[in-house]
Amino acid sequence: MPVTPPMISALDPIRGEGPDLEAELVELCSVNSGSRNLPGLERKAEMFTALFSRLEPDETIVEALEPETVIADDGTEVRLPLGPAVRLVRRRSGKPSVLLVGHFDTVFGADHPFQECRRLDPYELNGPGAADMHGGLLVMHTAVRALENSPWAGELGWEIILTPDEEIGSPGSRPLLAAAAGRHTVGLVFEPSLPNGNLAGDRKGSGNFTLVVTGRAAHAGRDHHLGRNAVVHLARMAVALDDLNGRREGVTVNPASTGGGGPNNIVPDHGILRFNIRVPDRSSQAWVERELDRILAEAARVEGFEVRLHGGFARPPKEVDAAIGALLALAVDSAATLGTALDWEPTGGVCDGNDLAAAGLPNIDNMGVVGRGLHSSGEVVELPSLVDRSRIAGLLLMRIAAGELDIDP
Ligand SMILES: [Zn+2]
Repeated sequence: MPVTPPMISALDPIRGEGPDLEAELVELCSVNSGSRNLPGLERKAEMFTALFSRLEPDETIVEALEPETVIADDGTEVRLPLGPAVRLVRRRSGKPSVLLVGHFDTVFGADHPFQECRRLDPYELNGPGAADMHGGLLVMHTAVRALENSPWAGELGWEIILTPDEEIGSPGSRPLLAAAAGRHTVGLVFEPSLPNGNLAGDRKGSGNFTLVVTGRAAHAGRDHHLGRNAVVHLARMAVALDDLNGRREGVTVNPASTGGGGPNNIVPDHGILRFNIRVPDRSSQAWVERELDRILAEAARVEGFEVRLHGGFARPPKEVDAAIGALLALAVDSAATLGTALDWEPTGGVCDGNDLAAAGLPNIDNMGVVGRGLHSSGEVVELPSLVDRSRIAGLLLMRIAAGELDIDP
């Protein structure tokens, strides 16, 4: 079924909305919502709930999230509270449905100097979260509104999930997203596009790990031979981990920080190492997990040491299969119809799209704005993309509603 004139006319009003979208974005970005700023996250959840309520959902639910459990530098578990998530649901019984996901936290805490937007030139706005992803949330809202104002409104159900913890790996919203994945036909996440405007295809998987080594303390002078030096043992394991680099295509291991130890005159009995692993596919993940087991088993065999590993592949690799490929093709064709040449390509970055795919939901995860300098005070959104991406996403939604996406449910 081709793109029809009523679809294009349903998208026409968006053309003139650039200035309004920019003004809304500036207002949103001026309220800090760093992932650990709970009052800011509460406030931002209210602002976005007010915005998305204009879509007249059947139900709006504010979800309190379980605190995040992290391993402190002394090896103990600490629970950190998280902001609220918001779910908005529009049911259309017997029709396909789409899950739309976005996060309203940013990497900039309340004490970060980068707090306000600045217009750089006619086409670019610099601001915290302007591209990642307050701009994307505005695109999501505008696209769903276009669907709801179109003749296809009754043909597609939707659920919107807005999360407060994506920038710290979605520790609290992960179960929410996994449960929602099972309720829908496809998913759209509104992370920024790749810098050249393209969509993400294959995404690597990412695991964060914390290694805690316990040795035996002893006086460094009198009883050195009785000690078991946890810092040295940890250092050997860091080298063994680093040695995994280059052994398998696309797998990287990054020992990132160390802690522990103590005064110079005591053999240290405590060490902690934090590291990240990226893998291109499931079989590489299995390979590196076997290697981790081996390194751990060898380290634990040395007398006097105890070794504990926390963490895992919270975000498994996302591979373009037939269903994701069909969805990407429909998005690329929709963009082409509206005059934007797009493609999709692999990336090493990870996001909630990894989790949704792992939970069985075909999805495109960077339907948001075009931008650059993400996670830095150079973060910039290309302003015309607020309008362009809203129209592309809106057309994609209408075509899914019209039954153009041919995938097995
Ligand atoms: Zn993001």
